[in-house]
Amino acid sequence: MSENGNEPTPLNEIGEFGLIDRLTQKIELKNSSTILGVGDDAALIKNEKALTVVSTDLLVEGVHFDLLYVPLKHLGYKAVVVNLSDIYSMNATPTQITVSIAVSNRMSVEALEDIYEGINLACEMYGVDLVGGDTTSSLSGTVISITAIGELDEAKAVKRSGAKETDLICVSGDLGAAFAGLQILEREKEVFKEHSTIQPDFSGKDYILERQLKPEARKDLIEYFAKEGIVPTAMIDISDGLSSELIHLAKASEVGVQIYENKIPLDAQTINTCEELNLNPVMAALNGGEDYELLFTVPIEHFEKIKREPLLTIIGHITDQGSGNNMVASGTEALIELKAQGWQH
Ligand code: ADP
Ligand code: MG
Repeated sequence: MSENGNEPTPLNEIGEFGLIDRLTQKIELKNSSTILGVGDDAALIKNEKALTVVSTDLLVEGVHFDLLYVPLKHLGYKAVVVNLSDIYSMNATPTQITVSIAVSNRMSVEALEDIYEGINLACEMYGVDLVGGDTTSSLSGTVISITAIGELDEAKAVKRSGAKETDLICVSGDLGAAFAGLQILEREKEVFKEHSTIQPDFSGKDYILERQLKPEARKDLIEYFAKEGIVPTAMIDISDGLSSELIHLAKASEVGVQIYENKIPLDAQTINTCEELNLNPVMAALNGGEDYELLFTVPIEHFEKIKREPLLTIIGHITDQGSGNNMVASGTEALIELKAQGWQH
């Protein structure tokens, strides 16, 4: 398990407190709002803005991650990023996280340190402080729960519920790549199970594998909104596929959506991989998962300002609720009703 090649240290050798010390010793606090971090009964945070934003996620081994092909450092990084994505999707800035882990006894101290290396790297990249957590053992798989805390000016809060008719529907980045990456990992896992001597073939798949194993949260888009003075009318992060997020947003806002198939942003590697695997890349975008891009709506008067912005793509507009949730098919102009297939972990 250990990446440095030494004998892995069993967890019972250092005990719970020794483990917490090993995992948290390198933490350096970055935010002035963090008054007290790890080491006491609770952390202290001095909120500098009107609203405190809180979001929690739970990751379960065998359900959300597979230790066979997910490098531990990536697992820690991704666990943080998916939480920060929820904070950004409120148009907020994340400032602190807590990390709770139930560790299976198959895991060594070094393996946990690898996970924490990823956690610390994400904290570094996104400027958040790790201020606490809890540690216990698990009789089955490993479970990681992260809570992210952020701050937000009340006037800039963006919920799912504010979209209005004629608003433009936009997404950041490109979609379906994490799903395509997962298909490649699954394929190579099957090959490995049958012939453990064959090296996995990941050539030409770097982007989609990175999107699956080391996703990023769209801090840059939130900064762009702040710089341009844009407050989206509604926003949600795309964790379960574009289709189901559009339906969530439409329902919360009591509106309908119309998007255009030929506007959905897809990377060339996503398209090539889907073709290779006999999958439809648009389906990967609509029903795949784990993109962690942001789906948002803005008033139509922002069109000139945003139409050339490389961070985002305009994919459609908001309609009245009675019109339902539809996609205009490429070429035929036929309306296809969007379905909430969601993402089966
Ligand atoms: P308590 O008995 O109050 O739950 P613990 O001994 O569990 O305290 O934790 C001691 C300190 O270490 C606390 O500040 C807690 O937030 C922190 N901590 C515990 N587990 C973790 C972890 N996995 N990651 C980060 N901090 C942790
Ligand atoms: Mg505790």
